[in-house]
Amino acid sequence: MITLKDKNIVVTGASRGIGAGIARALASCGARVALTYSSSQNAAEEVMASLAGSGHLLLKMDVADATSVNEGFARAFETFGTIEGLVNNAGITRDQLLMRMKDEDFDAVLNTNLRGAYFCSKAVARAMLKARRGSIVNISSVVGQMGNGGQSNYAASKAGLEGFTRSVAQELASRGVRVNALAPGFISTDMTDALDEKQKAAIQERIPMLRLGQVEEIAHAAAFLLSDMSLYITGQVLQVNGGLYM
Ligand code: NAP
Repeated sequence: MITLKDKNIVVTGASRGIGAGIARALASCGARVALTYSSSQNAAEEVMASLAGSGHLLLKMDVADATSVNEGFARAFETFGTIEGLVNNAGITRDQLLMRMKDEDFDAVLNTNLRGAYFCSKAVARAMLKARRGSIVNISSVVGQMGNGGQSNYAASKAGLEGFTRSVAQELASRGVRVNALAPGFISTDMTDALDEKQKAAIQERIPMLRLGQVEEIAHAAAFLLSDMSLYITGQVLQVNGGLYM
């Protein structure tokens, strides 16, 4: 059984969807969790109230803003003392074909999905190196590997995140700090609810398992990568996609 007892773990973007599912799974495995949200305060409070165990922390944090990230992590360190795990989950889409893409939509996606992970990783890395333990899990996407028409900004952010993962993994490995990516396929959340029925049916047909994934199926994989059951795994991209990309 996976246990995360004695681990303090920050999950960004935990007010909804995959982040909320990860926060719940980690708390069920015994972790103390710091959940972050950027605008959905009520939803984040509900997730917080649903967590197993006690001592969890709720933080308002815009991952695309370095000052907000540093303030949030200062509070997490103040409350928890140590941070053993980080899940860079916060992410957005602003889908559009290249020829119609607005520059601000390209930048917003890169700033949240890639620079956000950079700011948060930097905020915990020093303490993890000092403690000689830690696990960072970056939530990528199958789209980072396959590409997807209409998502050039999103695919670039996720492909970038995977390169970032491998590079930082090399920098931190000798001190026992691991960095991995987890690449979900299409998962039922608000993000995929934004697709119309025709788009959803077309996606489902292409998935060998013939269904979208559930948030819990991503959360269990994240719990594994954050646990001591994966101590010799670093710099990897774990695909959880129902066989959509092999
Ligand atoms: P979601 O339901 O739309 O939730 C996104 C989360 O990110 C929310 O908690 C949101 O918080 C937070 N967030 C957005 N912008 C933020 C910012 N600037 N600072 C801090 N938090 C921010 O998305 P999801 O489907 O759960 O996706 C979660 C992650 O999985 C993303 O990285 C996404 O790219 C990845 N992913 C999803 C799928 C899928 O099929 N759903 C597939 C592959 C990968 P607020 O509500 O407070 O703004």
